[in-house]
Amino acid sequence: AKENGRDDFRFFLTDMNLRAREQQSIEDGLRHALEQHEFVLHYQPKLNLETGAITGAEALIRWWRPDRGFVSPAQFIPIAEDSGLIVPISQWVLREACRQARAWRDADLPPLSMAVNISPLEFRNKGFLEGIRAVLHETQLEPHYLELEITEGVLMQNIESTGSVLRALHDMGVRLAIDDFGTGYSSLSYLRRFPVDALKIDQSFVRDISTDAGDAAIVSAIISMGRSLKLRVIAEGVETAEQLAFLRAQGCEEMQGYYYSKPLPADQFEVFARSKA
Ligand code: C2E
Ligand code: CA
Ligand code: CA
Ligand code: CA
Repeated sequence: AKENGRDDFRFFLTDMNLRAREQQSIEDGLRHALEQHEFVLHYQPKLNLETGAITGAEALIRWWRPDRGFVSPAQFIPIAEDSGLIVPISQWVLREACRQARAWRDADLPPLSMAVNISPLEFRNKGFLEGIRAVLHETQLEPHYLELEITEGVLMQNIESTGSVLRALHDMGVRLAIDDFGTGYSSLSYLRRFPVDALKIDQSFVRDISTDAGDAAIVSAIISMGRSLKLRVIAEGVETAEQLAFLRAQGCEEMQGYYYSKPLPADQFEVFARSKA
């Protein structure tokens, strides 16, 4: 057993080395990815559950490494956060998403909101508000078409400054959605304090709604709370007809998920949007 223990330890160290090296390689790659045009945005449709009409898109970043293929954002976003590279990357995402939203407005697609994920570091970056203002001005996108997705954790840090940033966004006309709603361990009081427009039910609750009574109860509770607080509620990660039926019966307004569409490149999104108009 002792021998084994030592081997395990050695494996552990090797594993740590591999991880550290992988981490470093991603960080090095990220440094050049913007200049090399290795990022692209995919767009996942959001649909109105009652009418089936398309209501908007969530922009999701994709990184194509020439030597490695696609790297998942779940893998590189945390590294981009740690290294601070998230700031320039996020600026690119925001500009590209708003440019695309504006182009779709001009191409007479149905009016679509464009949701952009905001990382914690970006949200607390000094130039954040000015960056949003500048991109909206530059792309001439009407602010109410832009929806920022922010997690509860971000809102709960530094409540004072969070409040003033959110109010400034609200005054600008930009919408705010709480992402991964229900997974944070925050109090719900911020829903009264902050100008929130929408809640996105985390996909971990949606996954088992037809089999797990606990998850079903949580999802119903979020939907009815959203209704009483006059917030839009968006279910994410909807994959099956059963999940859809449950959400519809509970009066959930909007959904997003593989059941209708995975995230799509811009040209395919456009085809999808026209078919749902
Ligand atoms: P998220 O914001 O919660 O995005 C939803 C994720 O669920 C996306 O993964 C999406 O492709 C996936 N998804 C959508 N529908 C389904 C479904 O029906 N079933 C399942 N199993 N998954 C579904 P993705 O694109 O890999 O992104 C992962 C995370 O990376 C995002 O989670 C978000 O936190 C982050 N991320 C992605 N793009 C950006 C970005 O541009 N900026 C920032 N800051 N973070 C981003
Ligand atoms: Ca999101
Ligand atoms: Ca989410
Ligand atoms: Ca997430």
